[in-house]
Amino acid sequence: MSESTRLRIAIQKSGRLSKESLKLLKSCGVKFNINEQRLIAHADNMPIDLLRVRDDDIPGLVMDGVVDLGIIGENVLEEEQIERQTLGTPAECIKLRELDFGACRLSLAVPNEFSYQDARSLEGLRIATSYPNILRRYMQSKGITYNDCMLKGSVEVAPRAGLADGICDLVSTGATLEANGLYETEVIYESMACIIQSTNTQPDDKQALINKILSRINAVVRAKE
Ligand code: ATP
Ligand code: ZN
Repeated sequence: MSESTRLRIAIQKSGRLSKESLKLLKSCGVKFNINEQRLIAHADNMPIDLLRVRDDDIPGLVMDGVVDLGIIGENVLEEEQIERQTLGTPAECIKLRELDFGACRLSLAVPNEFSYQDARSLEGLRIATSYPNILRRYMQSKGITYNDCMLKGSVEVAPRAGLADGICDLVSTGATLEANGLYETEVIYESMACIIQSTNTQPDDKQALINKILSRINAVVRAKE
């Protein structure tokens, strides 16, 4: 496969970051015609291709240099980075800047009836999460051992279903925790969306386009502050 001369940007296909990611690129003057069925959308007015994928795939695509830029939650980026460092696979990328959407936190939470003092209250217990690497790093830093319950979804129902004693999940308002009879005990990671670039050396024209997009993003984000 030859290197694309067009700038490739990966964004989440459908989810919490999709609308804002598209809006940001549009406000930078990039014109797209999105076909819901298609993975790739070509910009009409700039040499840019948009790749619409699962958010979990975005950090890896950037770190492997398959795409040039990606818009992703810092939580997913961090998780992938730790995973790849553990495996010894390429884990480098450049965080160009934090964006002004996708705010959330990765928190420990336990059932309302659980008497919680601090993270040591979870010693030897089972914790359900989609972020096993960030959780492990946190618990190791506190010297606490626990058991994993890896779930890609429905983490918040794990305690009620008898699968785990507590959870480590993303929270923004806390409404989901409350609806599931859980309360937040500790924030272990704070996250925003961010834009990342691959460490590939870019041809001059492509790097110039990246710089142009980034300076427009800076202007758009600053204008809203
Ligand atoms: P995909 O199908 O792309 O894998 P997903 O279900 O993993 O989607 P979303 O729920 O759409 O992902 O969340 C995408 C990102 O949005 C999260 O990784 C996080 O950075 C951010 N986010 C902001 N607020 C929340 C929240 N309350 N819960 C979950 N994610 C949030
Ligand atoms: Zn995902």
